[in-house]
Amino acid sequence: MRVFAVAEIRMNELDPVSVELLNLANEIKADGSAEAIVLGKDVSEFANELSKYSDKVWKIENDSLENYNPEIYADVLIQLFQKEKPDVILFPNSSRGAELAPLISTRLDAPIVTDIVGLDFSNGVKAKRYIFQGKLMVDILVKDADTYVFTVRQGVFKEGKEIGGEIVDVKIEPTVSPARQFISIIEPEVGEVDIAQADIIVSVGRGIEDESNIELAEELAKALGGVVAGSRPVIDSGWLPKDRQVGISGKTVKPKLYLALGISGAFQHIMGMKDSELIIAVNKDPEAPIFGVAQYGIVGDIFEIVPALIEKLNQIKS
Ligand SMILES: Cc1cc2nc3c(=O)[nH]c(=O)nc-3n(C[C@H](O)[C@H](O)[C@H](O)COP(=O)(O)OP(=O)(O)OC[C@H]3O[C@@H](n4cnc5c(N)ncnc54)[C@H](O)[C@@H]3O)c2cc1C
Repeated sequence: MRVFAVAEIRMNELDPVSVELLNLANEIKADGSAEAIVLGKDVSEFANELSKYSDKVWKIENDSLENYNPEIYADVLIQLFQKEKPDVILFPNSSRGAELAPLISTRLDAPIVTDIVGLDFSNGVKAKRYIFQGKLMVDILVKDADTYVFTVRQGVFKEGKEIGGEIVDVKIEPTVSPARQFISIIEPEVGEVDIAQADIIVSVGRGIEDESNIELAEELAKALGGVVAGSRPVIDSGWLPKDRQVGISGKTVKPKLYLALGISGAFQHIMGMKDSELIIAVNKDPEAPIFGVAQYGIVGDIFEIVPALIEKLNQIKS
């Protein structure tokens, strides 16, 4: 099978989800190929990086591809796909992927499943995804087709291996004059972090009680070399930015350490962090469901335990 992964470049950086797409592509390609596509104005550096994880990288450089425009990008991709005839096309389940994938799917008359967390081609085509806000996971049987389109949930296919492939420079000119025009990029505030990429996450729930106490979590995160995230009530209260939310309506994270402070463990939260390598929970309620997924649990008050932890860590460091 030829599995194509459409890489994503943001703010002149390769989004790590691009490599996750290739990890999935390598998993399902059988004796076929995992092929990356990278579009932009000057993307050689990204093509080199992607070639480590793919059999082939299609590098499409053009001045008109400098800034993302869905009409131009879809047009260029369609031209490549009509020529190369992929069996499977993978996009990240990002806002960009969610815009491009349906455009490609309708143009190619290809079935699409979004936000998948697994793919199985052993007996027909089965795509795994969550439904009902993460309450159930289902296998979706996809009808037979020449090409399938999927958007892939970020953070699920982190493991893969380097294979080393070739880079093919391909010249494709856009054939559309887009109705929408790029105006400017509004950069995120300085200091923003991507919790999906963090190795250590200190996550706070409603038990943190007040915005002024977030500082305590930040101090602990600093001592551990990690970042602060939160459950939905913390984000809804405006104590942390939206992109720090863990859970089905936030981000899926898989850090080496997930420290849950004052988080009850509602399933909508658990779905976003249950695959972390090590989960430690602190909660004053011994019956809190978070203890069901934690490897280590501390029944106690975070306002006693966190300062003691910070002190201990600082002692060890000095
Ligand atoms: C459609 C939908 C989508 C949702 N998406 C998400 C999502 O993406 N992410 C998410 O997190 N939630 C999500 N939710 C909300 C979810 O259902 C829960 O309401 C939420 O996760 C609860 O957050 P919490 O654990 O911080 O708060 P609570 O459930 O109120 O738990 C607070 C916990 O803190 C403990 N505690 C209190 N004080 C202390 C203290 N001093 N020391 C130690 N422990 C203490 C309490 O014992 C309690 O267990 C969603 C809900 C819906 C309906």
